[in-house]
Amino acid sequence: MKLLFYAAKEYDKKSFGNLAGQFPEIEIEYINHELEPRSAILAKGYDAVCAFVSANVGAETLKVLSECGVKTVLMRCAGFNNVDVEKAKELGIVVKRVPGYSPEAVAELAMALALAVNRRLYKAYNKVRENDYTLKNLRGVNFYQKTAGIVGTGKIGAAMARICRGFGMRVIAYDVYQNPALADFVEYVTLDELLAQSDLISLHCPLMDSTYHMINIETIKKMKDNVILVNTSRGALVDTNELIEGIRMNKFLGVGLDVYEEETGNVYEDRSDVIMQHSVTARLLAFPNVMITSHQGFYTMEALAAIAETTLQNLMDAKEGKHTPNDVA
Ligand code: NAD
Repeated sequence: MKLLFYAAKEYDKKSFGNLAGQFPEIEIEYINHELEPRSAILAKGYDAVCAFVSANVGAETLKVLSECGVKTVLMRCAGFNNVDVEKAKELGIVVKRVPGYSPEAVAELAMALALAVNRRLYKAYNKVRENDYTLKNLRGVNFYQKTAGIVGTGKIGAAMARICRGFGMRVIAYDVYQNPALADFVEYVTLDELLAQSDLISLHCPLMDSTYHMINIETIKKMKDNVILVNTSRGALVDTNELIEGIRMNKFLGVGLDVYEEETGNVYEDRSDVIMQHSVTARLLAFPNVMITSHQGFYTMEALAAIAETTLQNLMDAKEGKHTPNDVA
């Protein structure tokens, strides 16, 4: 089976290459191009393509892939908001993803961001390097005995809930379904109650029509003053312009973002010499209480190994026509 691997990085080649012996039937070609309508034609002659979070797997791309004879799209990530699922079904293209490769990888980054913005670690690190040993602007708060509000208690949210409990926090959550595995220490509340009670709010629900811009100026106004907001899920859960308005209202002790609305185009690229025009990201970066990382939640050795194994197993399952919980379409 021939698999064209879009937007391949060296670490992808390593983690997938390590499994060559385990999946001898799969022949992988790695290319740098991102999967999008113009690059989809490159998949002519391949059985499957593999794409990541910044790919454009919309109707146009899927149509070209279908014309090229591609039968399977393998998303090497959990989220699939960039896939036109209905179109894939209409064209008979199977789409599979990796729903739970390592929830702890993302949850641990969420807590790292929460701690970093709370204690201003990015400032402290640079200050000491500059021989400045003052504590100016570094004061944070204890997490112990504070309230953590988890929005979305699937695999990653549940891992974050467990981490917060480990810090001695009270853990409350909002989800459209309750996760029974958390029953002994998580109290489910309404979104409004979560916003009003939480000292730390961490977003872990998928991006869908119902969650688009769920953090906006109205929901921000319902939050406690001095709240910490962390988003490691998808950028568009947060209305960036209204987040900036909330930051200017001094609502936040800190904001930690591994994902943000303008990230497509930036993600995993070196754009250090680019002069940003009209960028809300640039505005966010100007605030002393904001820390942004570039979609690195998944980036641990354990997660990469699990992503590679599940993605290749997904292709074997697709070949055999097996339906599994990893099916998107
Ligand atoms: P999951 O499917 O296990 O859990 C998602 C949870 O969100 C479910 O419990 C679901 O009921 C809940 N949910 C759905 N709609 C909701 C709503 N309107 N309000 C509140 N909750 C709602 O998914 P997961 O594996 O925990 O991943 C969560 C998200 O994390 C993914 O969708 C993906 O976007 C993101 N993610 C980011 C990275 C990263 O590198 N930063 C890596 C993996 C996943």
